[in-house]
Amino acid sequence: MKQISQQNTAQNKRFVIAASILLDGRGRVLRNTRIVIEGSKIVAIDPKAAPVDYDLRGLTVMPGWIDAHVHVTWIFGKDGKNAAQGGATPEATYAAASNAWVTLMAGVTTVQSIGSAADIPLRDAIAKGILPGPRILTSAEPLVGRGAQTGTPDEIRAFIRKQKAAGADLIKIFASQSIRQGGAMTLSQEQLNAACDEAKRQGLRTLVHAYKDAVRAATLAGCTQIEHGTMATDEDLKLMAAKGTYLDPQAGLVIENYLLNKEKYLGTPGYTAEGFAAMERVLSLNHELVQRATRIPGLRVVFGTDAVAGAHGRNAEEFIDRVRDCGVDPMVAMVSANSLGAEALGLSDQIGSIAPGLQADIIALDGDPLKDITAVRRVVFVMKGGIVYKNVARVK
Ligand SMILES: [Zn+2]
Repeated sequence: MKQISQQNTAQNKRFVIAASILLDGRGRVLRNTRIVIEGSKIVAIDPKAAPVDYDLRGLTVMPGWIDAHVHVTWIFGKDGKNAAQGGATPEATYAAASNAWVTLMAGVTTVQSIGSAADIPLRDAIAKGILPGPRILTSAEPLVGRGAQTGTPDEIRAFIRKQKAAGADLIKIFASQSIRQGGAMTLSQEQLNAACDEAKRQGLRTLVHAYKDAVRAATLAGCTQIEHGTMATDEDLKLMAAKGTYLDPQAGLVIENYLLNKEKYLGTPGYTAEGFAAMERVLSLNHELVQRATRIPGLRVVFGTDAVAGAHGRNAEEFIDRVRDCGVDPMVAMVSANSLGAEALGLSDQIGSIAPGLQADIIALDGDPLKDITAVRRVVFVMKGGIVYKNVARVK
């Protein structure tokens, strides 16, 4: 994984942040300490550092969140209806930039946006510092399973290499139909093996959209991470734990968002009345999956929302769903979007924790999410790479 670009922070200026409650992103709580930042990086945790530039005492300070699965260019069009992702009109471009902005303001400092080549120029503009937004990693075009029509193993390998050449940071693979259409497998084991093996050869991770049988097949193929995972059996989840495959389930936001915006989605491609009828059932299956996954020893469950139009900037609702509806421990939920999320991206040495040498991606919540998970809605401070984008902490 390439080094995260250093933004043009003014001559490595030094800042000190004071915190009374600091979650380090790895599951530890530090009290009454200070974070020292130089340029884009954290250089020390030192309770005696002075002078204090940002007094965040009384808040909960933690690393910026990592959302492993969004669709940052997915928007509603001029008619107010679902316009899907990757639009190229000026309106679509501004709407995507707005999605990036509201995502950052919500405390998400890194996303994986998986599904559109339109993510690449947005990724690059943000990396250059000319647009505000979360750091973006993207898959460019996904490999969409269409049975034998998808291609021979050699054709699939060529497709993977093409995405790498186009600038993909990872490969997204659809190995199942939408769960709204039943979720049947759309790639054979042989095709999946070719895709995941070629990605590995190219040094790219693979994220596989998979339900039911496809979960096991993708795990056996050696993919990095399973997206969704609905209707995976406990045996499938144990196999994932044994092979070190990450699971990125969605406990609620994505379906809640569809139901909330039903009029905007219904009748647009892929969104039928039958599909909407299936969603309530899928939501309960997803709750059940997260509950079971939490009990599988060694299974690494990361945070990913699958944010589409209507959900950008509301990413943190997924934490509330996990804790409230699935019984996930609040600290586990936080770590899933911090150090564990960074590990799944291969970026543990750069983001996801508050520690010397890492990027200064730091947020603060008004409230303590370990006591009241709804505090994740109250992000009052956002720093990414040493630059403060939001600071609406209480004025004393
Ligand atoms: Zn998705």
